[in-house]
Amino acid sequence: MTETTGFSGHVDEMLETFWELREKNDLSRNSLVREITRDGLDHLESTRFLTWAGDTPVLSEEAEARARDIVRRHRLAERLFRDVLDLSNFEEDACTFEHVISPDVEEALCTFLGHPPTCPHGRPIPKGPCCSALSKKVCPLFSSVAHLEVGSKAKVAFLKGSHVDKLTHMGLGPGSTVRLIQKRPSVVIQVEETTLALDHEIAMGVFVKTTS
Ligand SMILES: [Zn+2]
Ligand SMILES: [Zn+2]
Repeated sequence: MTETTGFSGHVDEMLETFWELREKNDLSRNSLVREITRDGLDHLESTRFLTWAGDTPVLSEEAEARARDIVRRHRLAERLFRDVLDLSNFEEDACTFEHVISPDVEEALCTFLGHPPTCPHGRPIPKGPCCSALSKKVCPLFSSVAHLEVGSKAKVAFLKGSHVDKLTHMGLGPGSTVRLIQKRPSVVIQVEETTLALDHEIAMGVFVKTTS
């Protein structure tokens, strides 16, 4: 892909930086040289990814779309690493991730995360085709077991929170089929032949797949 489109990892990084500078309203020749170096700027100019409308740098249509994609993937990855995996040091991995995921994975991830509008730093996540009102899935792919209808069954997708070890020990893990027996006062679920009563907070960390 990099050979045919001319978007190397280095160009991707520069386009991402361009996007961020523009968001901060700090787009100028000086700020670009400061952030991507003079060589970097020369490169973007010589490949025609970047041109000038007076003092304003403008990306080609292709480069603009690429920048948007990269930023979108980076910020979706940040959401995944922070919200789902509970990582606090995710910046470097998000930078790697943004270059390797395919559009299909990107879309699945966005849907999985509920089409988040912003990254954990509060910056907007550019929308993808999956985020438009028409195609947006109404229900998320996963929900807490505590939100199931009483009596219904679902398959556990993942566990979250500080009780993962304990739950795993009780035989609850990804792939287990659970049935919700009651919601209050505690959440009671049936896993295989075992009935478990869970505090609401713990039950909120048991995520099941809501679609078949
Ligand atoms: Zn961010
Ligand atoms: Zn989406």
